Parts: sequence; structure tokens; C-alpha cells
Amino acid sequence: MAVSCQTIINLLESYAPKKMAEEWDNIGLQIGSPAQSVSCVFLSLDLNEEIVEEAQGVGADMLIVHHTPFFKPLKNLRTDLPGGRIIQKIVQQGMCLYTAHTNLDATVGGVNDVLARVLGLQYVELLTESWQEKLYKLAVFVPLEYTDKVRNAICEVGAGWIGNYSHCTFGTKGIGTFLPLEGTQPFIGQKGKLEKVEEIKIETIVPESRLNHVIKAMLEVHPYEEVAYDLYPLVNEREKAGIGRIGYLSKVLSLKEFIALVKEKLFLSMVRYCGDLEKKIEKVALCGGSGAGYISRAAFLGADVYLTADLKYHEAQEALARDLALVDAGHFGTEWPVVETVAAYLRQELLKKDVKVVVSQINSNPFGFM
Ligand SMILES: [Zn+2]
Repeated sequence: MAVSCQTIINLLESYAPKKMAEEWDNIGLQIGSPAQSVSCVFLSLDLNEEIVEEAQGVGADMLIVHHTPFFKPLKNLRTDLPGGRIIQKIVQQGMCLYTAHTNLDATVGGVNDVLARVLGLQYVELLTESWQEKLYKLAVFVPLEYTDKVRNAICEVGAGWIGNYSHCTFGTKGIGTFLPLEGTQPFIGQKGKLEKVEEIKIETIVPESRLNHVIKAMLEVHPYEEVAYDLYPLVNEREKAGIGRIGYLSKVLSLKEFIALVKEKLFLSMVRYCGDLEKKIEKVALCGGSGAGYISRAAFLGADVYLTADLKYHEAQEALARDLALVDAGHFGTEWPVVETVAAYLRQELLKKDVKVVVSQINSNPFGFM
């Protein structure tokens, strides 16, 4: 049985919401149409010709990758060059291509959470906060007999969520007044006569991402020609997401032992490091992929070591000067574990739909070690 590409997109975006992506990023559907039919999804970290052929070999209709081929603007689509051929093959095979990048880095259960889990970190927190959901208070004035209808309509589309409680609202009874003027068609009252109506003021909380849906639903069911409502921005604690994590090992290790742990858990034959091998390691900062930008953050938060990738000479010197040990386990090495986690989630969600979920078996790490 096949599902639409949009069904898979909805699943992916509830796992790694697009709103969590960095502004400069390019994520979402890259090739194909949301209406396309999908019976086999194929996941990989990267995209190269070999991987596209592998996907083709298992009958994939949809590719899901972490690194998009459309990161820099395309200047041409030359099929004599590998970049153009990859796109040509995907289009010719009628496959869709979807990318989850920094939204997958930041989300709960994404690249960095998986890395922290693989290493057995405890008391894990965000290394940086790159995204916070804005919250609003909505207050709407409703005639008494419409209270339930309006409350249900707005809560069904995302208003009134506090933790694991839905439909959180507060109602205050009062008297609303209005004077219908020329050109109105009042639901209650008459033109030119001041009306006094018993109303309920329903107050509730709305996350920014649901705001348009909530207002639309409210206007649809509210009986008044002109709906009176107020929106206030809130400074309450909000849902947060961010790149990188920081947490604690369950027991103190030496840097040498920590490196052995990283190699064992990430199946790596070699990593680069800097720092004293006897240094005691308990507090670990990490960022899958290129995380050099957070060295000072890791040092500021008192990490003993920072596990990341793509580090340069002077960045290593900067870390050492701040008494922060570094382990560079490679871009591929620190990011690949998330692919199987996302695949397991999709398999679970698509269990009854009989959609095949396949993970690439190709090691796309361009580097070898000897
Ligand atoms: Zn990456």
C-alpha cells in the first residue's frame, strides 16, 4: 500500500519541525511533488551517485537525506558532472527528495540527542538555544451559548496546550456592549440600539506556529459579524530547541578512556583529539557535524571535553588554551547514528501502511584512515 509523499513529510515534520531549522538552511521537499505516491522510503546521511543507485536498487520512491545537494544555489544542471547527474537520476526515476538538516540537529531525538544517548550521557541539556517558540495569549469575547463551540474550535487546532494538558482555557463572565451602526447585520440586537449581552471572555495560550490556524478556526465558528478579540505577546518559558548538547557521563573517565568509548560507540577506528590523555572527563559537550563555532560555549559551560567534527588547527589551539579537551570524531562519524533512529520512527508510524523503510548501507565518509 502506498501513501502520499505529503504523509511522509507530515511525519518527518512532526519529528523535526521545520521551524527549528536555522534561517540560512535549505530544508524540506527538494525534488518531486507532495502528491506523489510513496511505497518505499530510503534514508541516508549524504547523497552521491552510488547512494542514488542503491536507492533505485531497493525500489525507493522517496529519498530522505540530512545533507541537501541544493545547499549552494545551482548555477547549472550539467549531467556530465556528478552534481547534475545525481539530480538527473532522481528526476528520471521519479523519486522525491526531502532534506531535514539543522531542524534534525536541533529537535528532540535528533542528531545531537542521539549522539548523547549513544554515549550514555545523563542530565542532558542544550548546548545552545537556536530556536524558541513564541507564545501569545488570546482573549476572545463570546456570547454564553457559544462558549463550548468556540473553545473547542480553537483548542482543536493548537490553542490551550500546557505541557501534556490540552484545552487549557479560563472563562470570565461579564457584560459586553455594542451599538450596531448603519450597514451592519448584527447577530444579536438591532441597528441604532445599544445592546448589553452576557458574554464569556475565553483566555488561552497559543504558540506562534498555530496562531493563524487558531484565529481562522475562531472566526469560523464565532457567531458575531465582528469578533472582538485581543492578542498579547507573552514572556513565559517557551519550548526551546538548539544545536549541540551538554551532559554528564555516568562515571568519570580519563580522556583516553573517553576516546575509547567514542570509538566503540560510533564504530570508528580513529579519532583526532587534543588535551591531556589523563585529564578527568565527566561533563561532555557535543555537537554532531561541524561544531567549531561552539568551542567557546562548551568552555564557558565548563565542559571537560567537546566532541564534534571538522575542527581546524587554530580552533584546537583555542580550545586547549581554555582547558577544553577536544575529540574530533568526523562529520560522518558524529551524524550517522541519527539516520537509523529516524528510520525506526518512520517504520513504527508506517507499520499499518505497509510502506518499506530502508537505510543506506553505504559509508559515505569521504575520508579513510590508515
Ligand atoms: Zn552535517
